[in-house]
Amino acid sequence: MTQMENDTLKAHSRTTSIPTDMEELASDNADQELTASLLGNDKDTLDQIEAAIQRIEDGSYGRCEQCGEQIPETRLDAIPYAAECERCASQQEKGHRP
Ligand SMILES: [Zn+2]
Repeated sequence: MTQMENDTLKAHSRTTSIPTDMEELASDNADQELTASLLGNDKDTLDQIEAAIQRIEDGSYGRCEQCGEQIPETRLDAIPYAAECERCASQQEKGHRP
């Protein structure tokens, strides 16, 4: 798309309906709501999935954040966004729970 076409589109949407930015915002929110509802609205899980995607981009996915060891494939199958190996995760849980 050329810059001129883009400007024309923006001007068009400004005069006729919601600004383009608002539409983008709305569709972003819809995506997030869909993801959240698929996951049972679990914000923690969503955060972990986002962190996992970040790790895939970093190239550190599949490695334990605590000890740096490879997370077993069986664990990643069960919890694809797992950030820690089973050992470190269970230690964390003990630490967090009273
Ligand atoms: Zn570990």
